[in-house]
Amino acid sequence: MIAAVTVFCGSSDLVDAKYFDAARELGEKLARRRWRLVYGGGSVGLMGELARTVLAHGGAVTGVIPKALLDLGVGETTVTELVVTEGLRDRKAIMDSRGDAFVALPGGMGTFEEILEVMTLKQLGYHRKPVAVLDLDGYYEPLWTQIQRGIDLGFIKAEYLDVWYPAPDVDALLRYLEAYRPHGYGLKWDTTR
Ligand code: AMP
Repeated sequence: MIAAVTVFCGSSDLVDAKYFDAARELGEKLARRRWRLVYGGGSVGLMGELARTVLAHGGAVTGVIPKALLDLGVGETTVTELVVTEGLRDRKAIMDSRGDAFVALPGGMGTFEEILEVMTLKQLGYHRKPVAVLDLDGYYEPLWTQIQRGIDLGFIKAEYLDVWYPAPDVDALLRYLEAYRPHGYGLKWDTTR
C-alpha cells in the first residue's frame, strides 16, 4: 500500500518545457491517487513545479529541506508540511523513511546521487520499496548502459538489474509502482571463496 512517494528531480529552470510537462503530469496523478508527495522542498526547477501542481490539485506535500538551502531562498514554503534539517544527510534519511516508493524525474547530479543511493540501499537489503525513474526520451539510458556494463564486467550482479525500473512515461511509472511486489536479493558477495 502506497501512501507517500518520495520524488527526486532536477532543480534547474533551464530545461526544455517537456520536462516541466512531465512534472505537472506526475503531480496531478499523485494528487488524484491521494499519494502524498515527499520531496526536497525546493521552489525551483521541476521540484517546484511538481510540488505546486500536487497542491493545486488538492494533494499533500512534505518538503524536506536543509536550513542552508531554505536560507538561500530556494525553498517552497507553501507546502503542507515543511521539515527543516541541519544538513543533506539527515534530510535524505527523512526523505527515505517517509516514502513508500522512490521516483526520479530527469535531473542533475543531486538527482543521480539520490536515486543511486536508494538503489544501493535496496541491493543491500535496507529496504524493499519500488524504485522507478522517468526515462523521458531516453534520459536515463546512459545510466542503464553503465549498469549493464558493470554487470558485463562483473562489478554488479545481474539479479540487481531489477532494483530499478526506467519507465517510458508517467502512466507506465505509476502502473509499475501499483503492481510492485517486493522480493529480497541474495547476498551481494560470494563469501564461500
Ligand atoms: P539536481 O538534480 O542537481 O538539480 O538536484 C536536485 C536534487 O537535489 C533534488 O532532488 C533535491 O533533493 C536536491 N536539491 C537541489 N537543489 C535544491 C533546492 N534548491 N532546494 C531543495 N533541494 C534541492
